[in-house]
Amino acid sequence: MKSRDFNPARLDVEELARQGAELSGTDPHSSFARLVDAQLVQRGDAERHVHWTARGELLRVRAGAAQVWMHVNARTHLNLQCQRCLDATGLDVDIDRSFRFVADEATAVALDAELDDADVLVADGAFDLHALIEDEILLSLPIVPMHEVCPHQVIMSTLPVRPGDANATDPGGPDDGADDAAKEHPFAALAALKRRSSAS
Ligand SMILES: [Zn+2]
Repeated sequence: MKSRDFNPARLDVEELARQGAELSGTDPHSSFARLVDAQLVQRGDAERHVHWTARGELLRVRAGAAQVWMHVNARTHLNLQCQRCLDATGLDVDIDRSFRFVADEATAVALDAELDDADVLVADGAFDLHALIEDEILLSLPIVPMHEVCPHQVIMSTLPVRPGDANATDPGGPDDGADDAAKEHPFAALAALKRRSSAS
């Protein structure tokens, strides 16, 4: 089987490893439905692509059968929505992950607990590499995407902020009203938590 015969959506990972073959591709974001959903795509934005490579490796071990590995790299640029100002914020993604493939789910679960920096997957002869690449990109995204500094001023609260209010959440003071503050202003609550933990 030549490397051009491998189908990334139904990949024979064991064969890829046996050949030590490398696949690569450039796929438009529109071919990753969940990646489209995760982004803020504005009218007029040029379509972006995911550039990826996948290399199979058969790792010979002293005892037992050779191990099947696949090393995946994926790079792209995403437009996420800043959760502070709701404007688009760009994110460069560069993923480099190794996966070990085993014959069945029970072996995968047992090995997954042992290996720290690699995931263990089941090789079924028709593995969806395209979906794995999408999974890994989605897993790498920040839970709350945000600009480091928003391009526009954001009104954080309907309450006017006075300079003296900064002392209201002083760690030495009583916690009266802290619950209300957390509901209205999650970031202030977080900042208060940080102050509290550094004070203890
Ligand atoms: Zn922002």
